Amino acid sequence: MSRAQDLLRVREILQRRRREILTTSQGTHRELTALKEQERDPEYEENAQSELADYTLSSLMEAQRREVMLIDAALRRMDMGVFGECVDCGLEISKERLEALPFAIRCEEDATAHEQEMRGGHHAMPSL
Ligand SMILES: [Zn+2]
Repeated sequence: MSRAQDLLRVREILQRRRREILTTSQGTHRELTALKEQERDPEYEENAQSELADYTLSSLMEAQRREVMLIDAALRRMDMGVFGECVDCGLEISKERLEALPFAIRCEEDATAHEQEMRGGHHAMPSL
């Protein structure tokens, strides 16, 4: 398979995933709304369980929103023709890596270097 076909397949995976998330997140939103309405009921006694459900649903929606943003960014990179190129070294990110991690913007080597830099924070700066 050519590189272009590989990218087309990754695009399909991303678009399918985007639709799935949007469908799921509509359900999450409905659950959260129902929960909030229940909480407004004066007869309703707030308990730890519903607070937990509230928190779980909220963080779920946050995670879904973040993933859609990552997908949109990846699709934009595809439109610009830079998808699959490492932002650091400009080389092609391997097909295997893109299939496993369609949001990857760095090749394996640079991703590892970047992670170490992030983890180290300012201390990772080379000392003079
Ligand atoms: Zn690279």
